[in-house]
Parts: sequence; C-alpha cells; structure tokens
Amino acid sequence: ATPAPAASTSSSTEALHQLDRQRIVHPYLPASTTERVVMTRGKASSLWDTDGREYLDATGGLWLAQVGHGRDELADVAASQMRELEYFTSFWEFSNQPAIELADRLVRLAPDEISKVYFTSGGSEGIEAALKMSRYHHYRRGKEEKTWILARERAYHGIAYGGGTASGFGMYHDGFGPMLPHVEHLTPPWPYRRDLFDGQDCTDFCIAELERTIERIGADNIAAMIGEPIMGVAGMVVPPDDYWPRVREVLRRNDILLILDEVVTAYGRIGSWFAAEHFNVDPDIIVTAKGITSGYFPLGAVLMSEDVAESLEADSGFPMGYTYNGHPTGCAVALANLHIIEHERLLARASEIGGYLLDKLSDELADLPRVGEVRGVGMMLGIELVADRDSREPLPNPQAVADAVRREHGVIVRDSAQGLVLSPALTLTRDEADRISAAIRAVLTTTHPDGTIGS
Ligand code: PMP
Repeated sequence: ATPAPAASTSSSTEALHQLDRQRIVHPYLPASTTERVVMTRGKASSLWDTDGREYLDATGGLWLAQVGHGRDELADVAASQMRELEYFTSFWEFSNQPAIELADRLVRLAPDEISKVYFTSGGSEGIEAALKMSRYHHYRRGKEEKTWILARERAYHGIAYGGGTASGFGMYHDGFGPMLPHVEHLTPPWPYRRDLFDGQDCTDFCIAELERTIERIGADNIAAMIGEPIMGVAGMVVPPDDYWPRVREVLRRNDILLILDEVVTAYGRIGSWFAAEHFNVDPDIIVTAKGITSGYFPLGAVLMSEDVAESLEADSGFPMGYTYNGHPTGCAVALANLHIIEHERLLARASEIGGYLLDKLSDELADLPRVGEVRGVGMMLGIELVADRDSREPLPNPQAVADAVRREHGVIVRDSAQGLVLSPALTLTRDEADRISAAIRAVLTTTHPDGTIGS
C-alpha cells in the first residue's frame, strides 16, 4: 500500500475550510453546509485530505479517472509538451502535432462512420458544438427548418444553455428560463421504472412515442436526437439491447441526425472504446470528454461522420471556435492516456473488474429492503434505492446514504436522482471492490424507508 503523506496540522485544515467557505461558490453546495473535504493527493484509487485521511475513490473523480490518480507518465508528458509548445490556436489554418495525432487516433478507434474531430475543453462545450453542428448541417443543405432537437426526460447533457435545455431535469431549467426553444423530451428507456411504459415493452413504447413525436413536429423540422447511451445522472440507466438500433433506424428514415453523448461512456468506461460499439449503433456525431485525459487536463472531442464534416466545412467553414480548441498540452496528455488504456488492457479490465463488482454488489445487497435494482455495464454501475420494493417508490434523499458511506467508511460514492452511482478507476483491485461493497452494505443495512440512517 502507498504510505499516507504526512498529515498537515488540523489548524491549517480549519483555516483552509474557513477560507473556502468565504471565497468559493461550489456547484450544488448550500451555504448552510459547513463541512469541507480538501484533497491534497491521489494515487491509483486512493485520495488523501489535509488531515491525512485516506479515501477510496469509487466515483473516479467525476466518472473520468480511467487510469487512476497520480500517474507520473501523464505529468511528464504535460511538462515536456508545455516546455515545447504550451499553447497555440487551432483556428484557421493553424494546427499542432499532438492535435493532429490525437484526431487520427480517435478516428481509428471510433465506429466506421466517423471521420473527423472537433476539439473542445470539456463535455458541455462539446454538447453545444454538437447541437449547433446538427442545425448547421441541415442549414447548409438548404433545410433551414430542421431545428428541433429531441432529447429524453432524466437526460444530462451538461449545463450550458443548449445542453442544459436538452437535460431532462427541472432543476436545470427552473429559474434559468427562457431555455432554448425547439427541444422536446421523450420517455427514457428505463426498464426498472415499468410504470413509464403503460404495461408495454420498454423499447416498443419508446419507439412508438418517437414515431408519434416525429409525426407531430414534422420530420422536416427536426435536426437531431441526442442521448446518453447509458443515462449517467439518472442513475446509470441501461437501455434494452434493441433500443439504440431501433432508434437509429427511425432517425435515419426521417433524415434526423443521431448525437450520442458519450462524455461518460467513451474510452473504456464500459469495456469498449465507445458505447456505440457496445450497443451496435453508428451515430452521426459522438460527444466525448472526461476519460479522454482521465481528468489530467480539461479536454473534449466531438467526433463526426464525413457527411456532417462536409457540410460544416463548406463555403466559409464552420463559424464556431473555442480558444482552447486543439490545445497541444491537452492533446499530448490524451494521447499518453489512451496509450496507457491500450497497453494496460484497461478495456478488458473494466469488463472484468466491473463484472466482479456488479456480482459482488448484487449478492451482498440482495436481501436489503432499500435496494430496488443493481445494474451496470463495465465500470459504470448504479444502485437504485427504494422506500418499498413492491411499489418501487424511490427512497427520499439518497445523498444522505452517499454522505454516510464517505463519512463512516471513507469510500467516496455519488448519489444520483434515485440511488447511488459508481464509476471507479478502471485499475480498481478486487480488494478495493470488496471494500466498496462492504461500505455500501453497512450503510444500507440501517437506512430507513424515509431516507434516515441509523440503527
Ligand atoms: N454529458 C454527460 C453525459 C455528462 O455526464 C456530463 C458531465 N457529467 C456532461 C455532458 C458535461 O460535461 P462537463 O461537465 O465536462 O461540461
């Protein structure tokens, strides 16, 4: 085991907490919450805070630490690229070698349809680019009316205005309106929530609804449908196998682009380079970020078909660019990160250790009345929590469960809308998987139907 770094004094910890409370607005944190955890160091799946307390990171940063924390190789690549050429723009005819090599590598790894890449600094920027690309593609082909975007309830597509509108949770819309017009939300393919489907087969219901919606809005008015192959924030919701191929068929018939939001699923998280492969679907646009650098540098890549690229690059080109498009240091780090994923065989490892963790959780949580379903693919796992197993009524406040798992057992897990979600580094060991399962079991054993915890 890696030795813990020397603990800082608790007075300096308290001073940092105090300053943090005074100076930083954290996403999703009310001012009334005084607790802070200030991390100082990471190695593989372990993290240490300013008091030297060790945590097991079962969330993989924010679902992105494919190769684990503290890899010297990636730090070295970033440092040497910064010494050579830290940054220059990729607008117009300017380019750089790491961006060129990375784009070529991504296209070779991606499904056959994909032929070109547009770089961003992260997921939300990628989603904005993809939504604009889909409208612009039709516009350049003389179909200006094709502007509507189909999304799903419970989707998460980042927090900018386009993606925030496509996201299917009220909390991302309420108080921020007016949101982007021409966005329609469909029913998510969530088999466990059987009451969504009027007693029908989940895919049959979703496809019939999609066809009806296209009929109502008009195929000539719809640019694209966007979706996460596995819905992350919703709770790692895995669709039936026939969902994506059938959606694809309907969209193609209606000249509607398919944008897959693979910000979480790409680069090994579910045991394949892209979820498109896993679900046997060939999207027009794939949005990626997070695992492309395992979080060592903020970077995203939007991958597109030749057909889409051709219309974007026509005439005066695509009028949309981010300052950090094709950032040389980010691209160099991404190349080194993909090299590690390939050479350490982390795709196979994600399937193997993810399968082990899924079996372990399924076994150890099977008898607990708060556990509705344990599901997942590779290293993207969800535990749906319920107040009652028969009615499947959701457990109130799953965040209290996630907090207790961290505070009492030092295992960092995240709550989703209706449960817990796990996305550890793909390098997780079996011992660590056992620890995660035991910590969750211990807390859920004493979780009551009203969401309170205690014996
Ligand atoms: N899409 C999905 C599916 C995501 O999970 C996220 C982030 N969790 C985003 C988009 C937004 O990415 P970012 O936070 O890098 O902007």
